[in-house]
Amino acid sequence: MSDIIVQKFGGTSVGSVERIDAVAEIIKKTSRDNKVIVVVSAMSGETNRLIDLAKHFSKSPDKREFDALISTGETVSSALLTIALQSKGIQARSYSASQISMKTTSSFSKAKILDVDENKIKDVLDEGIIPIITGFQGITESGDITTLGRGGSDTTAVAIASKINAKRCDIYTDVDGIFTADPKVVPNAKKLDSITMEEMLELASQGAKVMQTRAVEFANKYRVSVKVLSSFNESSGTLISLEEKSMENALVSGIAYQKDQIKYTLHGIGDIPGTAFKILGPISDADIDVDVIVQNVSVDGKTDFTFTVPIDEKPIVDAIIEDIKKDVSFKDVMVDSNIGKVSLVGVGMRSQSGVASKAFKALSENDVNIQIICTSEIKLTMVIDKSLVDKAVQVLHKEFNLEE
Ligand code: ASP
Ligand code: MG
Repeated sequence: MSDIIVQKFGGTSVGSVERIDAVAEIIKKTSRDNKVIVVVSAMSGETNRLIDLAKHFSKSPDKREFDALISTGETVSSALLTIALQSKGIQARSYSASQISMKTTSSFSKAKILDVDENKIKDVLDEGIIPIITGFQGITESGDITTLGRGGSDTTAVAIASKINAKRCDIYTDVDGIFTADPKVVPNAKKLDSITMEEMLELASQGAKVMQTRAVEFANKYRVSVKVLSSFNESSGTLISLEEKSMENALVSGIAYQKDQIKYTLHGIGDIPGTAFKILGPISDADIDVDVIVQNVSVDGKTDFTFTVPIDEKPIVDAIIEDIKKDVSFKDVMVDSNIGKVSLVGVGMRSQSGVASKAFKALSENDVNIQIICTSEIKLTMVIDKSLVDKAVQVLHKEFNLEE
């Protein structure tokens, strides 16, 4: 284990010169006892501003140019933070994706990291200089600039931490850590001191927005220890632990929700081999995350097939469904954007039963109708009416005694 810590600062953490100054102090302090590598996001609002500029000229701008444009926010913050550090007498140097060979696939706006030149970064560290690296950016084999998807700086940081075998990857944000539920919905939600990687994976994929889901997957796959903490105060944050068994396993550790999903139901579809693949194959080929998937018991060889996808992907999914009509016969398709999902997550569910019935009872007593239920070993997800999501989260948070 090395003594290197990767520190990633999100958009709000570098959102103004004052915030950048505060971040420079954090880096200065950490660098007294550790080697530090820094990864930055764009200043908050900047990526959105750049996207709007492009959209002014075209609804679907050229993908290469779009990434070249929206990647620039990180270039600004890395250089600016470096200047701030240098003004405090700290040796630092900014690096873009191309300067550290952050190689990615060429799928613009959702590029995947292939490799990064860790020797380059190590050389900089050995010179006693803190590298300040642009998050979110990548570069293709042929030298085109790519981006890693919204929130992608988290993935940059975890990838570098993994490649360099860092002691830890600290994700600095504007919240104190991972909470039992979104404090905006549940004001007395509790900050967790630690959570297992498995739980974090489920929470992130089910809507907890603190870290990009892909970054958590990456950290899990390459066993990178991650801490989520605030750059606005000295709170201790939440450690995402790689250890499977942490203390007494909580039955429910956290509740996540999503309101940005849309539900498709294909009615009267033939219950024959290959149908699910014919529907979901093209959707996954388009790199769209399908979440809840339910197929009913068939009657007279016909069944209903339901799935949810992010609402932003509606135009593409509509087009795919139109297209598969030539291969798959079904009576009609029902599209419902008025849905939300609530998920209970906890490793304790594995060994203790009764979570589901307790949740269903609490929701029924509060007139929340459950449309779809789906479970994994450590997760219970319920699809409900979008307008009832906040209430359901509050009810469940109380039912499972998660408050402070
Ligand atoms: N600046 C990018 C975004 O806003 C990447 C990031 O912040 O992680 O999505
Ligand atoms: Mg972010």
